[in-house]
Amino acid sequence: MHRSSGKSKNSKTSNAPKQKISYEKKADPAISEYSTSSLNWLRKAEFLMSAPKLNLCVEDTGYEVAFAGRSNAGKSSAINALTNQKQLARASKRPGRTQMINFFSLGNPDQRLVDLPGYGYAAVPEAMKIVWQKELENYLIHRKSLQGLVLLMDIRHPLQHFDVMMLEWAYSRHLFVHVLLTKSDKLNRGPASKVLLDVQQQLHKMKLNFSIQLFSSMNKQGLEELASIMAGRLNYTLDKTLDFDMDSIPEASEADFDDADDINVDGEFHDTDDAHDLEQTPNQEIDSDKTP
Ligand code: GDP
Repeated sequence: MHRSSGKSKNSKTSNAPKQKISYEKKADPAISEYSTSSLNWLRKAEFLMSAPKLNLCVEDTGYEVAFAGRSNAGKSSAINALTNQKQLARASKRPGRTQMINFFSLGNPDQRLVDLPGYGYAAVPEAMKIVWQKELENYLIHRKSLQGLVLLMDIRHPLQHFDVMMLEWAYSRHLFVHVLLTKSDKLNRGPASKVLLDVQQQLHKMKLNFSIQLFSSMNKQGLEELASIMAGRLNYTLDKTLDFDMDSIPEASEADFDDADDINVDGEFHDTDDAHDLEQTPNQEIDSDKTP
């Protein structure tokens, strides 16, 4: 029998079950074995070298995936969480290395994780930022071993000018992008899922159908998902000889995160780096409504 749907929307008497949308993936044993093994593999990360420009980078062979994001997006913390090494990416943050392309080998120099400089780094003079942007562009355009990008955006401030610029660059170069909405622990589950959905929709509108996930270096949300994506892109194959114990990853505590960019009582974002962001794109102006 056909039921009328003409009931008031506000009717509280309806017994119809509410449709629940779940973003949690069901564990598939094969996938979970791969991500566990990937995490183990990523622990082998070792600092290889820093290069100020493309022609000084390590040899352009094999596979690499680069991490990009505005400064303070949580890039160093994510790399450290992914490799389970507290200081790995911090070392590349030392003055002098902040504007370098930093390479990490993953047990093999032909499989690399690359840490690109944080965009909008406050301590760098404007003229240097422009030179640096050119180098970054060179790297993104000409690097043959570059498989794609992990683009990190603070979940509270997604899709800023720099992010859209990177997304469009990657798209024009046929590179994959995997978007991380970082510091997901800063929002409750509902609001975090809503941002995820909103950003997904905005990317879809821009015809940039890249993958996206929630991520927290603090509570390790999304760590396994990121590990398998990285491993897949870097052509890692399952190594059955290694056993990995997820519990061996220590939980980070609040004290490890001295996040200076909190939201104030008005709900406004105060990021000291924001004022120093370059608002220019090197060779192009980005129109985020543009369909690439
Ligand atoms: P980067 O400039 O992109 O390398 O950012 P960092 O990794 O240095 O992080 C910037 C700030 O955000 C630091 O104060 C971190 O402690 C904090 N932070 C990074 N990741 C997280 C996270 O997952 N959760 C929380 N609550 N804070 C984070």
